[in-house]
Parts: sequence; structure tokens; C-alpha cells
Amino acid sequence: MHDVDLLILGPLIVTMDKNERLIEDGAVAIHEGEIVAVGKRTEFESQAATETITASGQLLMPGLINGHVHMGDSLFRSLVEDLPLEPWLERLWASEREFVSYEHVALGARLALAEMIRSGTTCALDMFWFPEAGADSAIEAGFRLVTGPIFFDFDSADEISNEDRIVTGEHWLTRYQNSPLIGPCVQPHNHLTVSPEMMRAAHTLATDFGALFHTHCSETTTEVTATLEKFNRTPVAHLEEIGVLDSSSLLAHCVHLTDDDFRRLARTGASVLHNPLSNLKLGSGIAPVARMLDAGIPVLVGTDGPVSSNDLDMWTAMRFAGLLQRGVHRDPVLTPARDIIRMVTTVGAAALGLGGVTGRIQKNHRADLILIDLNRPHLAPMYDPYAHLVYSAGRDDVRSVIIDGTFVMRDRKLLTIDERAVLADTKSLAIEIERHAAVLSHT
Ligand SMILES: [Zn+2]
Repeated sequence: MHDVDLLILGPLIVTMDKNERLIEDGAVAIHEGEIVAVGKRTEFESQAATETITASGQLLMPGLINGHVHMGDSLFRSLVEDLPLEPWLERLWASEREFVSYEHVALGARLALAEMIRSGTTCALDMFWFPEAGADSAIEAGFRLVTGPIFFDFDSADEISNEDRIVTGEHWLTRYQNSPLIGPCVQPHNHLTVSPEMMRAAHTLATDFGALFHTHCSETTTEVTATLEKFNRTPVAHLEEIGVLDSSSLLAHCVHLTDDDFRRLARTGASVLHNPLSNLKLGSGIAPVARMLDAGIPVLVGTDGPVSSNDLDMWTAMRFAGLLQRGVHRDPVLTPARDIIRMVTTVGAAALGLGGVTGRIQKNHRADLILIDLNRPHLAPMYDPYAHLVYSAGRDDVRSVIIDGTFVMRDRKLLTIDERAVLADTKSLAIEIERHAAVLSHT
């Protein structure tokens, strides 16, 4: 066997490979960012490696995939609280318009990336102004990010006119098409903030570049009512009728669905991005996830922005994704833990166009891996690793994170982000944001 860059020996491996193997006392060999071999430790005794680490007493699994986030909103965490979605958005957008710039979005992205890496997330779908700031920050941090051009018809924080959105989008998608860590996505905010014509133009742009199409859909009853009044159909029906719903579509929320909506989602192959904490905190409702799974609709789990769920902790999001369905339906058999783990690994990767890249510990996949410390009272004993991951583990149990074969956190130390500088810069900008918000609330 030739030398490999990194050999990890001894962990319990939750592979999420096609047979969903669990390997006790396992081993993974990584070379040039790629997983080149996975098996039992005993099979690797003669394997030479530039670096070998022993990870006995730890669990190795694919890094978590956050299906819906607004990284730049980290700067506004807890600025606006205790309002329904629509007035809440108005207040938030007033601050965004004042403070959103390339530099500030990059700062918010670095803050979000630090939080996500610390909690074992290795890939996310991000929608925010100045998506180049998010993409550049992710590349710098060695993080896998799916993102791209934003569409929003009114009073945009990035000051790109509607006439220029397509050309700007084309430039953006061209600029990042050879970035191995960036996946392309075209992102109209919502069908009430973006006209049907612009939705169609955005969808065509996505198709032309082989990019995904990401939008918010059916989040609140207010949105559904407004859509019925304006277009005489539900949000999901509207998206299909204007021709933008297909297997490249990623719909955040889908809390309020009719029987017909279910059929449309299943027929078109669109994926749903479920954000349980955000939906609960904003009082939006509980998405019918169990029924989506029954209908074969791919469901991913996300945190949404830290303004609505207040953190980017995928462990809490996973736990709520499981608990809510059981509570609502009074059925402890729904949403088994393994299904939840699939949502944040294999299902998430496939929906983001990264099924052959990440989400599995399997030969020829990129090495996006996390190590979890099992030597903790709340994780002992362990009979069912999937149940532990969903119902017992938390973000502080994540010990090391590898993305594309490179350590980005090692023994709880971030290696690609200057966390101290990010926190200091965030605190000083927050003083200005708070002052501006105080003025707004008095006018
Ligand atoms: Zn959102």
C-alpha cells in the first residue's frame, strides 16, 4: 500500500455508505482530500501514512449538512425578538439595508462559519446578500458552501437593480464555477418579494449554469393567504404553475401544505428544507415532515438564520426534527433517528448536487468528517449510535472536524478562522447596529 496523507485509526465509524455500515474499531485512509479506504483497523496494519491519529473512544461520521442558513444574519442575532414573521422581517430588513456590505457580510459569514465548524457542520446552503462575501469566506475557512445570486424585487440591500440581476448572476456563477468548495445556487427570496417574471428568469439562469434553485415557500399562514389573494393558488402550486418547480428546487419551510401541494412536490422531485427551531420560535407552525417522508419527498434539516432560530446548532435542529413529529402525531415510531441522520448527510448531499462528493464515509468521496468524543457521561452506554447522535449528543461533543481532507478544527481549536478577531470585530460592529436600531424604534 502506498503512503496516504492521513490515517484515522480506532473510531466507531457511522459510514452512511450504501449499506449504512457501522464499523467498530474502524479505520479511514485519506489522500489528497479524498477517502481512499474504509474498513476495520486490523486491515490497515501495514498502511503507511504521513500522519496517523488514534481515535479510539470516538465516533467518526460524515460532517453535518445544514440545509438552510443565512450566515450574514449572525450579525443581527437577538436584535429583533417577539414579533410575528412579517413585522419581524420589516424590522430586520431596516437594519440589513443600513449595515449590509461586502465587508460586513464577510464578517457575519466568518462568525457563522466558526459556529458551524465548532458544531460539526461541514457543508451548508446559504442565502444572503453579497453571496460572494459568503463564498470567499467559506473558501478561506476551507468550508463547503452552496450559495449564489440573490433575487429580491424591492429596496434591495445590495443595490443591484432588477434589470442587472441576471447579468450580475451570470458573472457570479462564472466566477465561482471552478471553485471546488462552492456549489452554485440561484436564490430568489420568495414568490411575494420576487415577481413571477423574475422567478422564471432566475430559474432559467439556474438551468443554464446547472445550478440549484432555492427559495422560501409556505412558511406562514399569512404568506399562504397573501398568495391565494394575489395568485389564486397556494405557494407550491404557484411555483409549479410558473414553471420553477423541479428536482433542482429547494424549498425552505413548507409548513402549510394542502393535499395537492404534496402531490406537486412528490411529482416534481423538489426538496424541502425543514427548519424546526425557526418555525417554532416565529410561531409559524410545525411542518408535516412525517407525511413528506411518506410521500417520498426529500427533506433536509436546517437551522435557518441565527436571527430566527438564534443559533446554527444542527444537533438541536435534528433533535427537534425528530421530537416534533412524534409529539404532533402521538406516535413514537415516526421519524426514526437513522432517518434524521440521513437528512443531514446522504439526503442533504444528494439534494445539494453533492451526492458523489460528501455525506458518506465511502471510497472516492471527499473527506468531510467529524470526530465525536464518546467518553462523556451523557453518551454512555451506547447501544444505538443513531439514537445517540439525534437524542443525546450535542455540539460540544464534536472534537475535530475535517473538510476536504484538511483539519479545520482539531481538539476544539479552530485552525482556519481567527476566532478572537472575529468576535472582537463583531462586538464593535454590534454597538453601531444597536445604536441604529434604537433610533429606528423611536421613529
Ligand atoms: Zn430563511
